[in-house]
Amino acid sequence: MSTSSSNQRASRLHQGQGFYSFALGNLTVTSVSDGFLVFDDPQAALAPKANSQEFAAILSKKFVSSDVAYTHINTLLIEGNGKKILIDNGCGDSFGPGTGALVKHLANAGVKASEIDVVLVSHAHPDHIFGTITRTGEHVFPNARYMISKKEWDFWTDPNVKISSPFGEEMARAAILGAQRHLKAIEDRVSFIDSEQEITPEIRAIRAFGHTPGMMAFIITSNRKSLIYTADALHHFAVTLARPDWELGVDNNPVEAVVTRMRLLEKITADGAPLVHVPHFPFPGVGHIRREHTGYAWEPVVWEW
Ligand SMILES: [Zn+2]
Repeated sequence: MSTSSSNQRASRLHQGQGFYSFALGNLTVTSVSDGFLVFDDPQAALAPKANSQEFAAILSKKFVSSDVAYTHINTLLIEGNGKKILIDNGCGDSFGPGTGALVKHLANAGVKASEIDVVLVSHAHPDHIFGTITRTGEHVFPNARYMISKKEWDFWTDPNVKISSPFGEEMARAAILGAQRHLKAIEDRVSFIDSEQEITPEIRAIRAFGHTPGMMAFIITSNRKSLIYTADALHHFAVTLARPDWELGVDNNPVEAVVTRMRLLEKITADGAPLVHVPHFPFPGVGHIRREHTGYAWEPVVWEW
């Protein structure tokens, strides 16, 4: 048995509370948890128009309750070429207990918030951008520049923006005001990205509109190894893979979101089975997706210490 290759790994490649690191080509990639959210009435959020029996059957097949939805919040840290790039920054200190653990979990992984060079924002929902500033307005990642799609920026910063939420009017309003507050805070440190734009030689943006108007997914490639950060084009590890055609209550434009989801799943399963990182799949949210029956199935990576 050879132990040399594992022993030659950098000392940072290990696991601990709230983070999961692995090598992707010449990069070190870490799934870092911001925590979790639990919400009632999963069907309203995940598949409001679906047959309830079929919905419950998909969850029970995975031994998961259909009474509450337990949602993980995983961000992704990419390190290489002397840069630390974080994709999404979680809920911060304003979204209730269970969330806001990102900075603590980064510290567990040996990374200080002040070391983050760039935060790539997939979209401006609370669980992806509320980690930008604290309640008192201080930057959580003081040295980071931000990147987000112009379409996403324009949508949320429009003073007349309207959204509906399966969680009610109050939540919709909090999401809008929060997005505007956090986006305002990065006005002087943001640059805009476009579909298919190369962000670094290893990271490229993929258009993933629908969940929000300007959402981006990302593909990270190094030394012939690839990983796709799906953003919220995928949502629940069982439901949105078994029935990717179901419209989600949490999607801004559910019809466009289905088209995006189908296209992304097609790409993932056609392109030599890249690794996938999904913000809301069970931590660390890293695995592969394969076709199953008329839909798809999730195969999480086997945990490596
Ligand atoms: Zn989300």
